[in-house]
Order: sequence, then C-alpha cells, then structure tokens
Amino acid sequence: MKYINFTKDKVEVSRLGFGLMRLPIIEDDNSLIDYKKSRELIDLALESGITYFDTAYVYHGKQGEIFTGEVLKDHRDKIKIATKCPVWQIEKEEDFDYLLDIELQKLQTDYIDFYLLHSLDREKFENVKKHNVYNRALKAKKAGKIKYLGFSFHDNLELFKEIIDTYDFDFCQIQLNYLDEGYQAGLEGLKYAKDKGLGVIIMEPLRGGQLANLPQSITEKLGDDTPANLGFSYLLNKGLVDIVLSGMNTKEQIIENCKTFSEVEADSLDADSLEKIDYLKNEMKARIKIDCTGCSYCMPCPAGVEIPDIFRAYNNKYIFEDEKKSVETYERIQKRNAGKEACVKCGKCESKCPQQLQIIAGLEKAHQDLAGGSNEK
Ligand code: SF4
Ligand code: SF4
Repeated sequence: MKYINFTKDKVEVSRLGFGLMRLPIIEDDNSLIDYKKSRELIDLALESGITYFDTAYVYHGKQGEIFTGEVLKDHRDKIKIATKCPVWQIEKEEDFDYLLDIELQKLQTDYIDFYLLHSLDREKFENVKKHNVYNRALKAKKAGKIKYLGFSFHDNLELFKEIIDTYDFDFCQIQLNYLDEGYQAGLEGLKYAKDKGLGVIIMEPLRGGQLANLPQSITEKLGDDTPANLGFSYLLNKGLVDIVLSGMNTKEQIIENCKTFSEVEADSLDADSLEKIDYLKNEMKARIKIDCTGCSYCMPCPAGVEIPDIFRAYNNKYIFEDEKKSVETYERIQKRNAGKEACVKCGKCESKCPQQLQIIAGLEKAHQDLAGGSNEK
C-alpha cells in the first residue's frame, strides 16, 4: 500500500480508501448489513494497510455509521474515519450540531477525522449558506469534533469553483474516471482544487462499477490487465489525485486493488499500460451516440427535463451493451415526467450548451431508441 500526506499538516493516509456504501447485505435489503461478511472485508482491508474508511449518515439506510463504529472502534488510533453531513436535512442552524452529535454517537468516537458536507449541488449549497453551516462546522472543528472539513460534489464546474472560492475547505471529493474527464468538476476541477491547496479524493473511479464490467469484445484485448486495474491506474498515474475510494464488497476486489495501489504511483505507468487505457477510452468514446459531457450547464430545464441523465442512459446502452439497464433508467425518468415528452421546445438549453449540441433532436433520438425499442447499432 502506498500512503500520502493528505493535509497541509501532513496527515498520512492510504491512497486507497474503503468506500463503505456497498457492503454485503442480507436478503437484498440495503439497510441489513451482513456483519459477518462485512467484518471479514474490513479485517482484510486493515491487514492490507488501508487506513481511510469512508461512510455517510445516509449509507445503508442510516445503518452504515453504526456498522463503521462497531467494526473500527478497536482500531481507532490507527485509522481515519470520513463521514458526511446530510446538508439537505438542515432546516435551522442548530440542526448541524444535532446531526453531528448523532453521527459521533453512532460511530462510537469523540471526533471525525474527515467530515464532508454531502453531495453539494446548487440547491444544497444555497441551503448551506442559508443556515450558516460552514461557520457551525468551524466551531465544531475548534471544539475538536471534526479534524478536517471538506465537501463532496455533484454539479457543474462553475459551482465547484464557486464553492472553493467561497469557503476555506481542507479537501473535496469529486467524481472522476477516464471516461468522464469533463463531467461535473472533472479534470479542470481537480487542477483548480489542487491549485487552491485542497486535498482531493476521487469517488466513482469505475463509474459505479460500470468500468469494471466491460463487454468481452473490449476486455479480450487487455492481456493480463483487468478493466478495474486500468481504471485505478489511470487515476493513480495522475500526480494530482490524493485518495481514490473504492466501494469494495469482495475479498478478491480488495486483494486486486491493494496490488494496484502498491504498484502504481504518479507518472509510473509504462507505454503498454498507457496504450491500453487510451484504447479503453477511445473504444468507449466511439460507442457514444451524443457527445454530452454531463456538465449540466443546460440545467435546470424549465419543463423539468433531465437532459444529461437522458443522454447518459442513451449512451450507456451502446457503451456497455446493456439495453435493459438503459431502458429501465429511461422509464424511471419518464415516470418522473422528466423525459422528452415534457420538453416544450423552448430552446433555452441549446443556447447554454458548451458542446453546441442539438439537444431537442437528441432527446427525440434517445426517446425513440429507449422508449421505442430501436435496435440501432
Ligand atoms: S428545449 Fe426542452 S429540454 Fe430544452 S430547456 Fe426547453 S423544455 Fe427543456
Ligand atoms: S447537453 Fe450540453 S450543456 Fe447539457 S449536460 Fe450535455 S454537454 Fe452539458
């Protein structure tokens, strides 16, 4: 395992962080964590040198922090715990302290090493400002309940920069992988955060597991490498990335990831590995139907159309050869009345799209394909 001085005062953590949001569960019930299997995974992670464990108030139906506290309490001085504040639940200033105290109690600890304002987007950020959450968090820091303060992020680059420029966070957590370099904060956001002195944690390094389960037509050309190992290597090879989270739920994943994280560091990949990553990136991009980066500059749509999510589902059908999943996703979007049929063709989105996409026509194509049963290839 390789370690990094993550904070300005050089707190050392493993570069592989254990994301505790996909633990083994019982009877398909996400709030019923399988303690036996999950504890075995944590034990293996500890033996393998992982020291960063990431949970959240809402993980596993609010049971994730209880599990984390229980299995890590005997290792507290050797590991770092990250958890997150559900900022959307804050309706008045005191709610921040109330939620934090519940989290400390569930985690069986007096302090949280890395505390994140969870999943900031425009709406949540406005709520953070409205209820003075940042200053409340600073007070909690002074009281020793929080060591380092950060935020996780799901919106466009513009807002990402605004958040960083508004408050003095220690670190941030963004989504990044070789296929989504321009998605949300993206590569530009990574550079921006590092320039401003923040530590950066990467989430969704394999796009929620999608990049680990590629069609055989792609993986057969990778030799001894696996799609997962190449996905992580892409990130580790970038000098700016500090910690990469992985939501591991098998021992095999922990063993494979620990090997990758022991071998790969900044600028360490050879030409063969770089070629394979380029191959993966190009092969996946060639399958893309609409060149939407998911930046969300077109949002919000006044009619409530979920433009980037529709294009993502449409592209994913061809990238991952998984028609069923894309059709199901589009069905869910339609049920929320946020599909193409809600579009009133006002054109506001097209004038805001940096890719100059013909969004209205694109929505029509996606709709015909995902709701009309087209077999376009
Ligand atoms: S054209 Fe349609 S999708 Fe675009 S902003 Fe108007 S209603 Fe929304
Ligand atoms: S349609 Fe354009 S503006 Fe909207 S998310 Fe995609 S690339 Fe960004």
